[in-house]
Amino acid sequence: MYKIDKPFIFTLFGASGDLAKIKIFPALYQLAAHNLLPEDYLIIGFARTPKTREEFQKEFSESIERKEVRKKRKLNRRALNKILKHVCYFSGSYNKEEDFRAYKNFLRTLTKRKNLTHIAYYSVPPLVFEDITRNLAATRESPDDDTRLIIEKPFGESGNSAEKLFHFVSQFFREDQVFLLDHYLGKNAVQSILHLRHANRFLNLMLQGREVANIQITKFEDMGVKERVGYFDHTGIIKDMIQSHLLETIALMTMSIPITESAASIQRERFSILSAIVPPQTKHDIVLGQYEGYKKEKNVPQKSTTETFTALRLFIDQESWHDVPIYLRTGKRMNENHTFVVIELKKFAFQSTDDEPNRLIIELIPEEKISITLLNKQGMKTEYKQLVSDSIVGSGSNLPDHANLILDAMRGDKTNFLSFPEIIATWRVTDHTLALIKKHDLPTHLYADGSRGPNLQDDLTQIDGFGWYEF
Ligand code: NDP
Repeated sequence: MYKIDKPFIFTLFGASGDLAKIKIFPALYQLAAHNLLPEDYLIIGFARTPKTREEFQKEFSESIERKEVRKKRKLNRRALNKILKHVCYFSGSYNKEEDFRAYKNFLRTLTKRKNLTHIAYYSVPPLVFEDITRNLAATRESPDDDTRLIIEKPFGESGNSAEKLFHFVSQFFREDQVFLLDHYLGKNAVQSILHLRHANRFLNLMLQGREVANIQITKFEDMGVKERVGYFDHTGIIKDMIQSHLLETIALMTMSIPITESAASIQRERFSILSAIVPPQTKHDIVLGQYEGYKKEKNVPQKSTTETFTALRLFIDQESWHDVPIYLRTGKRMNENHTFVVIELKKFAFQSTDDEPNRLIIELIPEEKISITLLNKQGMKTEYKQLVSDSIVGSGSNLPDHANLILDAMRGDKTNFLSFPEIIATWRVTDHTLALIKKHDLPTHLYADGSRGPNLQDDLTQIDGFGWYEF
């Protein structure tokens, strides 16, 4: 981590919303608390809701105080007071060019500096993305201004709408100015997958398709949908979790390691593997579930068939990976809050069917650990040993996801942001999966709240003679 030394303006569109309060204000505060911000910068909340600067500053600090209490951390009052001096508010409409012009004038009253880096964070519903983009472009000095757009997932609702969005944005801004954010890639543990692979040859030897029997990714959340019902019920867990978070995790595990660690090479390799993913081919490759209490959540339609659990079976269309099944499962209101990846290695031909295979397990949530299962067989005695690392995350950063990514955007580093083609590749898999569900009218199986989801998930791994790895 290194400090940003260039002055900047950070405009947070949708500053009155939930994402702003829950994630963005606390992320900015963490950057201040870690002393990573320069002396000269402005953070400006932009939203339609009329508000004074003092009211906004109060909301800003209250959201941070709440978060620190929840995380059981001691508030750094000095850092909070310091950042508050840089925080302002502007009330305007996203679709009115004149409001953006007035915003420009407002900025001129705050700073006389010219050619500042301007980071525009879209913390608004996607239907507002186009208005903001158009008006930002209409009111900039020149296309060469250092304007960086941070656009948060979801990117469209399908491959087509994502393509339309990118096409629209590209009319006004170059791709290198657009930072497409999936907060999952801001997680220290997720980032460490590639760092570990880069640093440890033996890990890459284990991650050769020819050596791997299957890969399993499990992302279970013990919480239900709660206040995100409005968004979730028309989205479902396939679009919410699989489309970007879990497909990107597969990419990090299976992509070729580029020689140079540049953002462009890493994005290229992620895209290459994502574009080779073979989506579910038959109805047996998909299991859908809904937790029993889902319809009792406030505002969930009584006829909702939205999936809150899914398990999928995929492949990768590359010579070394082609016969390695990849199983993904994710669910809400599950028995545990646990995200982990299991790479099960092939057995030797002479090993018995009773022998457990070697496994490489990477745990991402709640703890960040890596473990390797070793089998020791001497005579009649068989022993399994689990070699476990304390933590896979280096000491470099303990910043929250959004803080890592905002810092990267300020530094102009796109390694942990998505490229347009990558997102289109993940939508191809998602759209295909959803079309297959529709074609076969696949049912959503009820599962008990706090359980491991529908038992049918076991049939999916059984197709290849494997079973889910459970802790
Ligand atoms: P909100 O619905 O809270 O909207 C944010 C702000 O945008 C609102 O406070 C409102 O501000 C403005 N807004 C809302 N609806 C409209 C509308 N129809 N037309 C114009 N402006 C509107 O969204 P969130 O803060 O929850 O999320 C922001 C973005 O981030 C969304 O794209 C969301 O999908 C994504 N996201 C959210 C997550 C979360 O945990 N909340 C997680 C991951 C992604 P005002 O009226 O004052 O202008």
